[in-house]
Amino acid sequence: MAQAIPSEYLAIDRKARAMMVCDGVGLRDPEERVKDFEDVLIPLQAECAQIHASRCIHCPDPAACVVACPVHNDIPSAMWLIEQGDFLAAARLYQENSSLPEICSRVCPHDALCQGSCVHIKHDEPVLTGALEAFVLDYARQFGDVSIPVGEPSGKHVAIVGAGPAGLSCAEQLVRKGHAVTIFEAMPDAGGLLIYGIPNFKLPKGVVFDKVADLERAGVKFVFNTKIGKDKTIDELLATDFDAVFVGIGSQVDAPLKAEGVDLPGVYQATEFLIRTNVKNELLPPGLEPITYVGRKVVVIGGGDTAADALRSALRLGAEEVTCLYRRTEREMPGGKKDRQMAREEGAKYQFLTQPVRFIANQDGQLAAVECLRMELGEPDESGRRRPVPVEGSNFIVEADVAVLALGYWPDPLIGKTTPDLETHNWGLIVADRETGATTRLGVYAGGDAVTGPDLVVTAMIAGRKAAAGIDEYLRS
Ligand SMILES: Cc1cc2nc3c(=O)[nH]c(=O)nc-3n(C[C@H](O)[C@H](O)[C@H](O)COP(=O)(O)OP(=O)(O)OC[C@H]3O[C@@H](n4cnc5c(N)ncnc54)[C@H](O)[C@@H]3O)c2cc1C
Repeated sequence: MAQAIPSEYLAIDRKARAMMVCDGVGLRDPEERVKDFEDVLIPLQAECAQIHASRCIHCPDPAACVVACPVHNDIPSAMWLIEQGDFLAAARLYQENSSLPEICSRVCPHDALCQGSCVHIKHDEPVLTGALEAFVLDYARQFGDVSIPVGEPSGKHVAIVGAGPAGLSCAEQLVRKGHAVTIFEAMPDAGGLLIYGIPNFKLPKGVVFDKVADLERAGVKFVFNTKIGKDKTIDELLATDFDAVFVGIGSQVDAPLKAEGVDLPGVYQATEFLIRTNVKNELLPPGLEPITYVGRKVVVIGGGDTAADALRSALRLGAEEVTCLYRRTEREMPGGKKDRQMAREEGAKYQFLTQPVRFIANQDGQLAAVECLRMELGEPDESGRRRPVPVEGSNFIVEADVAVLALGYWPDPLIGKTTPDLETHNWGLIVADRETGATTRLGVYAGGDAVTGPDLVVTAMIAGRKAAAGIDEYLRS
């Protein structure tokens, strides 16, 4: 542990700590928060953070929360430091293992990771490790030093393709090792899905912009509106200024739905819908306009976190009836419970065992309704979940002014197709060593959703860091 906790203190104190009750993390009232796109969390105050942190009973090593955390943050020590009021030391502890602690603390599925393994959960709320991490990182930005230490210049230059969590984390680690870094990004700004996906009410965009500014101050250069594989190839990057390349392009192609009328005006893919409802006009890619009106009735098709984000965005745009249509039951839903609960609190409805089969236009050619089929669950499929089977003749109509398709994501095969000797599989995912990020092409590394398929911010961040270590070793060898 980074901070020695006096053992006699803990021995007397564990029971008392275990008895402390918690009133949970502060969320804005659903009726109020649904009127805007601002953060739903009420920031913790210092004294309140200290009280919350003091609920940690400091389980014997290895504490379950540390094991469950994908970066194995030393959470008990951080709780101890917060309890003592040493917020800057706690922030430094989180920064040791993570390049994006201010972001992961907000978007990690804590209920399935650190908080889900907290011993308190048997009787009460877990220790609020996510909110406490966010608190100390905000505190450090306000009162401490969050600058990225830059290493002695190595004379090497690395190109990063994609400014999402994987690319940003790789850049952060490379500049620490003294390598010059240029990030090429297809969109008009940095952040990947942190900006062009996850809504502001879950992750305030200012938190991401601050991180990007830290990287720019550390010397990272950004080249926007540049699609590698189209505007420039990886071969061209390696033949000109760059000694190595990291590919962190994510997995952002919307999975299609084959149904009559799917191209009608009023039917959106989730990516486009979330970008146009959540990103300011000046950051939108050319040709995309903000969506400010979604009519009275919105349906969202799918069962993941993207579906919950689309439901909650539609409610914030004033839709009166917002319904999620999902072909299995709640038990099989891939999305997190927490997001679903917040969507329900804000007014979203869920209709299970429902499969859209046709999108129906009104006389103006706009979407007016969705024809659906009732489903029942059959035998488990290859994913282990019970397969939805249509109930013949069960067709029914759901009225809708807007429908959003949130059916999952596929990789973009462009880089694989335009880079000789770069092996891909599963419709374009890049084959890479999970420990070093090395691909089948010498000098080219990859990580994040582009390698794993759609996953989490924290796993993309870890992959970016591991690849930076792999690239450093390659450049020095
Ligand atoms: C709506 C939504 C909500 C989510 N919510 C959560 C959540 O709450 N918690 C969580 O942990 N995870 C969440 N995720 C998943 C998480 O956002 C991703 O796993 C993570 O962003 C992947 O990081 P990445 O860097 O691999 O890719 P991305 O974030 O996808 O970034 C890839 C970047 O590469 C750029 N790019 C692509 N192709 C090229 C090219 N050829 N040339 C140049 N640039 C290119 C893209 O424009 C993008 O900026 C969510 C995902 C979505 C879609």
